[in-house]
Amino acid sequence: MPNDLPDGFHPETIAIRAQTERSGNREHAVPIYMTSSFMFDDAEQARAMFADEIEGNIYTRFSNPNSNELIEKMCLLEDAEDGLTTASGMAAVFVSLAGILKQGDHVVASRAVFGSTHQVLTMLLPRWGIKHTYVDTSASEEDWEKAIQPNTRMIFAETPSNPGLDLLDLQMLGQIAKRHDILLNIDNCFATPFVQKPSEFGADIITHSATKYIDGQGRAIGGIIVGRKDIVKELRFFARHSGPAMSPFNAWIFSKSLETLSIRMEKHANNAMHLAEWLEAEHMQHLESVKYPYLKSYPQYNLAQKQMKSGGGMVCFSVKGGLERGRAFLDNIKLCSLTANLGDSRTIVTHPASTTHSKLSIADREAVGISDGLIRISVGLEHITDIKNDIASALKSSQH
Ligand SMILES: *Cc1c(COP(=O)(O)O)cnc(C)c1O
Repeated sequence: MPNDLPDGFHPETIAIRAQTERSGNREHAVPIYMTSSFMFDDAEQARAMFADEIEGNIYTRFSNPNSNELIEKMCLLEDAEDGLTTASGMAAVFVSLAGILKQGDHVVASRAVFGSTHQVLTMLLPRWGIKHTYVDTSASEEDWEKAIQPNTRMIFAETPSNPGLDLLDLQMLGQIAKRHDILLNIDNCFATPFVQKPSEFGADIITHSATKYIDGQGRAIGGIIVGRKDIVKELRFFARHSGPAMSPFNAWIFSKSLETLSIRMEKHANNAMHLAEWLEAEHMQHLESVKYPYLKSYPQYNLAQKQMKSGGGMVCFSVKGGLERGRAFLDNIKLCSLTANLGDSRTIVTHPASTTHSKLSIADREAVGISDGLIRISVGLEHITDIKNDIASALKSSQH
């Protein structure tokens, strides 16, 4: 079990200092508990642990010291009561839905959700009689209210949205959920708790893909759910018996990575802010628009200031010349990576219209803020001048 940190430390300190109790070997860094099961002292302890009369690790599918440490830190960072780890971000999203919803239930979800979340809502959950209604990111409070049905049990949303970078008003969603006595489930992967804390606005469940900023170096796949104790208890039952457990090795990576998350997010946001301002000031001859939540020109600037501590690490812009130009831009990139990930120390460039969202119709793409020329930049930790030079030269070379 993690050690008990005395109260009153700041999140930056907690992310570094919360640690699994030291073993007899007096290690400084936490060991990797690469073990499938844990030993019982005697038959009575085994009985009592299985009966939930005493706490303790039994089997790594249920719990493990490395996962426990990661959960402890994330609960402290997100101001949540309890949590669980999963093998991927999608396992976290799926468990957060399937672990609590039942046949006949209804979910109101933001239309701009992660691609696989969209597949879960539209293709998988309906098999078990769970329906959903989508609401546009531009929807008013009234539109959200109208989507709520008598059997609605949950609101599911992601903010900022991927890849369109639209924001949802967390306070508004929290109030709607409260008014109807339904759960608010927020995918906080894009922001991380150092940029935005959904629990402050009444979120009951918060899901994360640890693969992204929590790892921060593109090494491991994992997911985390934190939230209300009574709900996490149900989700844990679902996960324990359906089995999407996180590897202790991955939990160790993620927990160690949390030690640097606050300074990484600060640097990601500084680089992103700098890049967005520079694009807007010097490159509008190539661009239709630049989007970053902390830009003055951002349509939801006030909301961003209210619910986010920085603009985060993602910047979007739309190149003039649509699909062709978007692809040409990618082909002229030299430093940044062309890869399907985000939240990495390395800057990553993607063109959603020709890749992740190519199967959607143009109308469906536009409904979630994806124009043909949209480029998404996950701004990394390299020197900002090198990132700028690469993007400037690719913009220039992609002109015909
Ligand atoms: C990547 C991502 C996921 C899925 O996470 P995996 O770790 O890839 O399974 C879910 N939500 C958002 C917002 C993501 O970016």
